[in-house]
Amino acid sequence: MGWILSDAHDHYDPKAIEDFARFPELRFLDTYHWICPWLLGTATFAFGIWTGIGGWEALVWGFVISTVLLWHGTFCINSLTHVWGTRRFPTPDQSRNNLVLALITLGEGWHNNHHHYQASCRQGIRWWELDPTYYALKALSWIRIVRDLRPFPAASAPR
Ligand SMILES: [Zn+2]
Repeated sequence: MGWILSDAHDHYDPKAIEDFARFPELRFLDTYHWICPWLLGTATFAFGIWTGIGGWEALVWGFVISTVLLWHGTFCINSLTHVWGTRRFPTPDQSRNNLVLALITLGEGWHNNHHHYQASCRQGIRWWELDPTYYALKALSWIRIVRDLRPFPAASAPR
């Protein structure tokens, strides 16, 4: 929890990711990172009132609890996938691939693949390694909402 609550990492070195600085929407989101959660929370509250569920009930279940579960799913990747699973690549970090965690986190559980080639947007590299996040990115690329996806390099893929 410490690194979530700490403000020690609020700022970053823009020179380390200069390619991101070309996108005004990313700079906007970095500066005003609080806007999207507030909009989502407000919309969830309004949705609860509009549907008769109740504003507070909708806010607690549709925003607060769902966000806490999302965080736990996301953050467990950096701990549990260094403990449980199988290792395809001999990376120096003990990272592992784990089907259960990949299902819970929409593909992030293929963590050993990720550590082996971190620039790839695709983490499940075999057909049976389900990676819904990659499928969504690929679909968005077909309608040109995202572009320049970096696949897993063929030279790096297992035989
Ligand atoms: Zn890791």
